[in-house]
Amino acid sequence: MKFNTKTIHGGQEHDPAYGAVMPPIYQTTTYAQTTPGGHKGYEYSRSHNPTRNALENAFASIENGTYGLAFGSGLAAIDAVMKLLKPHDEVISTNDLYGGSFRLFTKIFQDFGIKFHFIGMQDASNVEKYINKNTKLIWVETPTNPMMNIIDIKATSDIAKKHNVILAVDNTFATPYLQQPLDLGADIVMHSATKYLGGHSDVVMGALAVKDTDLADRLYFIQNASGAICGPQDSFLVLRGIKTLHVRMQRHCENGKAVAKYLQKHPKIEKVYWPGFESHPNHDIAKSQMNGFGGMISFTAKGNNYERAIKIIENLRVFTLAESLGGVESLSGHPASMTHASIPKVEREKIGVVDSLVRLSVGIEDIDDLIADLEQALK
Ligand SMILES: *Cc1c(COP(=O)(O)O)cnc(C)c1O
Repeated sequence: MKFNTKTIHGGQEHDPAYGAVMPPIYQTTTYAQTTPGGHKGYEYSRSHNPTRNALENAFASIENGTYGLAFGSGLAAIDAVMKLLKPHDEVISTNDLYGGSFRLFTKIFQDFGIKFHFIGMQDASNVEKYINKNTKLIWVETPTNPMMNIIDIKATSDIAKKHNVILAVDNTFATPYLQQPLDLGADIVMHSATKYLGGHSDVVMGALAVKDTDLADRLYFIQNASGAICGPQDSFLVLRGIKTLHVRMQRHCENGKAVAKYLQKHPKIEKVYWPGFESHPNHDIAKSQMNGFGGMISFTAKGNNYERAIKIIENLRVFTLAESLGGVESLSGHPASMTHASIPKVEREKIGVVDSLVRLSVGIEDIDDLIADLEQALK
């Protein structure tokens, strides 16, 4: 099955009870048993729920995995991956990372005795320098948020395999439409399904997909034992979102390209961060591991000051100033004070998240309206 068919049919069956084409919302906590243990595969909805299972099968299918897991948020999904670890284990992570992931690692798991190395991974060979006998996990985000750096998944996976370390990739920005980390050698792919997979800014959810059955068993054990699952209503909504992922992504890419090119030519703009530019330092890797460059763009205005960035954001009308990304509507954001506020200023500025940086999630509106909006705001 091709990707654009998998989004609609992958892992799906019509409901066995009445043939409903969409999986019903099984709003139930428990399932009748005829005798203790005599059930139809469902006992209690933390462990299994038919609507959630339909969604989890869809996650596995679109990521070319064998097993999918759905969680109450993206961070809950990351939290489950971290619970594969034990005290004294070490993690090598991207330094230019979603702020919430950084907070989870440094404010919670560091206190449980796990050691983190936050490093630049654009040169994959840099990763090997930090590997020792305690290294258990490499955590990659690509494209990175908000600097749009690209990390070579295949090269990182070769290093991970050589040292028997698990490689996990946060695929939230790219989505499987643009990039399929499991096929490039990653062991775990993670999503904030809140973003492009849900796609309509109406559900908070997280996802994991894996190929290896032993890893799937361990993660399922954690999902059930820790309990950070999502409900059946939300599962239904994200399943519906995934059905149009490919058509939405196609438009996000077209609009993203047009906005990036418009900004790059604008006399008031200093720098535009978008992996589709040939001048982007990792453009070649982006081109080889992605099927397009997506709708996420960051930029700084000339003069490089905080007030100017805030003024642009405040003047945008079609772009809404809000946290999050990946919905049908265009959003603007100020990483230094919003998504990345939990990262100390010195750390933030080292990776380029300066006070003048603006991030756009380019939606699927008519491109003329998006450009006109930027034009008037920059004026
Ligand atoms: C939003 C986001 C997360 C966290 O997901 P939630 O659903 O908000 O918990 C993790 N990684 C990336 C790249 C994100 O954009």
